[in-house]
Amino acid sequence: MDCLFCKIANKEIPSDLIYEDKYVVAFKDINPQAPVHFLVVPKVHIRSLDYLNEDQNYLISHIFKLIPSLTKEQGVENGYRVVNNCGPEGGQTVDHIHFHVLGKREMLWPPG
Ligand code: 5GP
Ligand code: ZN
Repeated sequence: MDCLFCKIANKEIPSDLIYEDKYVVAFKDINPQAPVHFLVVPKVHIRSLDYLNEDQNYLISHIFKLIPSLTKEQGVENGYRVVNNCGPEGGQTVDHIHFHVLGKREMLWPPG
C-alpha cells in the first residue's frame, strides 16, 4: 500500500522517531507548528477516525495514555494540545490516522 505513514512506521522512510512500541510510533512532524510537534501513529493502517473499528478502541486509549509521558519527555510543562484532523474539511492531508501533539507555546482557541 502506498501510504506515507505506513512507510514511516515500517522504517521504509526515515523519520525523527521519539517513541515506538508494538502498536504505535511517534515521530516529529516535518513541518512543525509549535516548538514541540510530534505525531502519534498506529502501526496498523486506519484511514481516519471515521474508519476506526470497535475492536481498535484499545489503540485510542493506548495513544491517549502514552501522550502525557511523551510530552513530559519532550520537556512540555505547561499544557499541550492533541489534534486529530479527520477528512478534507477537518484538514487531514495524510490518510492514515494520526494524532498531532503540540506544545511549548500558547495555543489559540478557536483553532481556525
Ligand atoms: P494532517 O494534515 O493529515 O493532519 O497531518 C499530516 C502531517 O504530517 C502534517 O503536519 C505534515 O507536516 C506531516 N508530514 C507530512 N509528510 C511528512 C513526512 O514525510 N515526515 C514527517 N515527519 N511528517 C510529515
Ligand atoms: Zn497507512
